[in-house]
Amino acid sequence: MRWLLLCCIGFASAPGQSADRPNFVIVFCDDLGYGDLGCFGHPTIRTPSLDRMAHEGTRLTQCYTGASVCTPSRAALMTGRLPIRNGMCSSKRRVLFPNSKGGLPASEVTIAEALKGAGYATGCFGKWHLGHLPRFLPTRHGFDRYFGIPYSNDMDRVAGSPKGRQSFNAPRSKYWNVPLLQGEEVVERPADQTTITRRYTDAAIKFIDAAGDRPFFVYLPHSMPHVPLFASSDHAGRSPRGLYGDVIEEIDANTGRLLEHLRKAGKSDNTLVIFTSDNGPWLAYGAQGGSAGLLRAGKGTTFEGGMRVCTLAWWPGRIPAAKTSAEVITTMDLLPTLCALAGVKAPRDRPLDGVNVSAALFGTGPSPRQQVHYYRGSELFALRHQQWKAHFQTWGAYGAPPKHTHHDPPLLYDLNADPSEQRDVAKKHPQVVARLRALAKEHRSGVNAPPSQLEIR
Ligand code: MG
Repeated sequence: MRWLLLCCIGFASAPGQSADRPNFVIVFCDDLGYGDLGCFGHPTIRTPSLDRMAHEGTRLTQCYTGASVCTPSRAALMTGRLPIRNGMCSSKRRVLFPNSKGGLPASEVTIAEALKGAGYATGCFGKWHLGHLPRFLPTRHGFDRYFGIPYSNDMDRVAGSPKGRQSFNAPRSKYWNVPLLQGEEVVERPADQTTITRRYTDAAIKFIDAAGDRPFFVYLPHSMPHVPLFASSDHAGRSPRGLYGDVIEEIDANTGRLLEHLRKAGKSDNTLVIFTSDNGPWLAYGAQGGSAGLLRAGKGTTFEGGMRVCTLAWWPGRIPAAKTSAEVITTMDLLPTLCALAGVKAPRDRPLDGVNVSAALFGTGPSPRQQVHYYRGSELFALRHQQWKAHFQTWGAYGAPPKHTHHDPPLLYDLNADPSEQRDVAKKHPQVVARLRALAKEHRSGVNAPPSQLEIR
């Protein structure tokens, strides 16, 4: 039934062209900060593989997520739409929990569904967090294969495990009874989190090999470095940055292993790999959380540190090498971009917030994106137009005491001159403020929000 629906809205494949179709890999870290990679300026975390990826590809310094916390950010990536359009956000419950009954609606079209309809092999290896009931799992949203945890690695805390933050200082997998799924079956519980980064990568590599000559889409949403942090014995205790550094270095090594596998398999000249994060660092966890570098604040906020993420794009021969691009893009742009590169029509029967940014990735033209919308839950808190960003409301970090403030006039920052959002220039630029206010009003009037999936219990 659903397949028929997909065909009707324009996903019919063109047989015989699959050999020309590029492969896609999206490595999506969890709570990785903008400043946590060597190639994004971290002084002590060693990321030689990602530095090499940057050297062979393009570093994107102005890439945004669709939200500053896990569930809505993942929904945005998968659907190319702001979560306000599909019920995947809430100001009351900001993410899905083990007692949630909601999830990504079946009516949404994911990247996997769009590409699968064109003959792609599709696999998801990692944290899903778009609904853990069977009808919401990756296998029901276009993925042929799934291996991973259905929600965050700090959920299902076991009674009697150390209280509060103590459990994060010396974490043990058994403190959280998180299930590990293969397809729709629980194959391990609690998931052994110490080896999970390597096992996701192993599964992705195996899947790529099994795809043979078919084009593939691999979605690799690591559950690290979301707290509690775990590193394998190969990496634990090595980084001068402590356990957080060990975790990033393990992600680095495994990303390197994946890229090396693509090279050896002769697929590197036909594979686009994007490496990025779902949101900014969880600063409330101190040394267990990451760093947003020069950006203000982190996860949970609509400041730059919450939603601008360190991003690398790699496709030897297509994406310029050793380049830094300040083109403004978002993770929502990946759905229309990947569809365009695969020769597949993106859904046309609904508003998409993503735009095709392939010219920006290939260095052949500017990003068509003019605006960035910063939502906290179901409310538009800030808007960027060109280099200007207006904050209509602000709220403190996720997990920290709330300091909710309405700003009238809004705070205005020039992100080209002041990426750290330190100097409010609203008084100097009343016309810019008026323009951003009008754009926010226009945006709000164009959104019809369905009931929230995150509030269903
Ligand atoms: Mg996250």
